[in-house]
Amino acid sequence: MGRIVVLDQNMVNMIAAGEVIERPASVVKELVENSIDAGATRITVAVDDGGRKLISVTDNGGGMDAEDLVSAFEPHATSKIKTSDDLRAISTLGFRGEALASIASIAQVKTVSRTADALAGNCIEIDCGDKAGLMPCSADVGTTIQVRDIFYKLPARRKFLKSANTEMTHIVEQFIRIALANTSIELALMHNGKEQYRLTAQQGIRARIAELFSQEVADNLLETQSEEKGLHIAALLGKPAIATTSNRLQYIFLNGRFIRDKFISHAIKEAYRGAIDPSRFPAAFIFIKMPYDDYDVNVHPTKIEVRFFNANLVHSQILACLREKLLATDLDTLASVPQSSVPPIRRDNKVAEAMEEFFRRHRPAGQRQMDFVARDSGPVTRDWGNERRETSIERRYLQIHDCFIIAENDDGFVIIDQHALHERIMYEQLKRRVHNSHLESQKLLVPESFQLTKEQSDTLENNSQLFEKLGIELVPFGPKTIAIQSFPVLLAKAEPADFMRDVIDMLTEKASTLDADSLFDEVLHMAACKAAIKAGQKLTDSEIEHLIADKQTIEQSSHCPHGRPTVIKFTVAELEKQFKRT
Ligand code: ADP
Ligand code: MG
Repeated sequence: MGRIVVLDQNMVNMIAAGEVIERPASVVKELVENSIDAGATRITVAVDDGGRKLISVTDNGGGMDAEDLVSAFEPHATSKIKTSDDLRAISTLGFRGEALASIASIAQVKTVSRTADALAGNCIEIDCGDKAGLMPCSADVGTTIQVRDIFYKLPARRKFLKSANTEMTHIVEQFIRIALANTSIELALMHNGKEQYRLTAQQGIRARIAELFSQEVADNLLETQSEEKGLHIAALLGKPAIATTSNRLQYIFLNGRFIRDKFISHAIKEAYRGAIDPSRFPAAFIFIKMPYDDYDVNVHPTKIEVRFFNANLVHSQILACLREKLLATDLDTLASVPQSSVPPIRRDNKVAEAMEEFFRRHRPAGQRQMDFVARDSGPVTRDWGNERRETSIERRYLQIHDCFIIAENDDGFVIIDQHALHERIMYEQLKRRVHNSHLESQKLLVPESFQLTKEQSDTLENNSQLFEKLGIELVPFGPKTIAIQSFPVLLAKAEPADFMRDVIDMLTEKASTLDADSLFDEVLHMAACKAAIKAGQKLTDSEIEHLIADKQTIEQSSHCPHGRPTVIKFTVAELEKQFKRT
């Protein structure tokens, strides 16, 4: 007798459930998505014990009539697609017709539903695939689905459920994703009878972000949009101040569906390059709209990943849209001085702490104070009509400790980290110039030579184009020795041999992990750092004036290429507050 049997339908559903229903949060996601597809404008999610005991979703959507209520729980039962053509352009959140069948195969499910034109509703109960008959009942228009004791007949899977708290965290995350994508829907989340969230509809995305996260997050977002080649992008970009150590404030939506996408995450990271420390994650809420047939949602059981037919276009357009906004914005760090009576341990006081620390360590010596002669950079034309007043030209300045420049501006003053700012300026210049051609170089009067190991000379050979682009001309000079014949004019301040050794070391170390573009970018960072004014270097008036003037020419100068701030602002208003004048 053969050993192969065809599994009965309930087994098939249970196996499908393993893919779609991982934990209570997956049930919440599927049920709420169904409510949205049903046109609901008000949805309430109530769970008990982190969803392990009960998950209940009530909506005021279109509802189901008796016939639909029976078939809704059949596998592959869907009202959302009919032909394979529909599969190519899916505008609803659901379409596979397997969520309800899956859920009903692994829990006790009770559903009450009523359509707008019916006088009463119907109720159906299913216990792990066992369907009881349909019963008429009184009900409001819409649908309520209650899911009890998920996985109770599957001890192996029940065992994998985590504590109520952990499961609740997952549920909240699903709720947040849905809430961000649907600001026109009123949403509530209850846990053990207590209200966790009650979100008002029609207040816009910023208000919803404030309700879901905090007012601080909502207040620190820049808005931007772009529309090109059928791809519409709307983004809210967090200022560096609210960047976090994880990507928990990054949300990407495609036509109303939360997705995860490594191309888009990479574009976000690239857009912020230089604006925040590379180890931190900016807040970013990105809403993409594109024709349904430009991507495939049917590649992942929970549809959290999609396949773009032109992923490069998506990447480059998002990067361009975000970067343009960030470059056009003055992201200078605004200093907030801590109240002396309150210990400044709050996270958002990092800058203030750093400043305090700085002044503690660099307490000016009495005699040094004598050097602090404020220097006047001459008359300045003020442009009051310009709304970005903080970027108008600084008027008086002062170099302290040969490291920092304090410069007055319209709102107060800024403290410039001379090395960090100059490094940023150099980096932008280098980047601009190498973009189209190679750097202009100059023959060295005496070629500088240096020795190489076998590995280093291999690295050199493999990256010959990179050095060409930089305008560095190299010639072999005896065994294991190479001579630098020409060197870029822009890097005049750097030591050629020293620079080459560091670049070769970096290339040897990173060539295998980075792509060509990122590698070249690293080299530019290095070059900028080496060619920049150093900390501890006394500057002449004209050097300081140049630095301040160049600050205006680069569009975004508030962070060095390493992501550290280059400029910290103090406003008169803040000072007045500190001195209790207001
Ligand atoms: P899918 O959403 O992929 O179509 P589901 O198993 O999630 O599959 O749902 C099956 C069908 O049940 C849906 O296509 C829809 O017609 C109906 N349905 C499910 N939930 C609701 C609801 N809350 N309101 C109205 N109809 C619903
Ligand atoms: Mg569905």
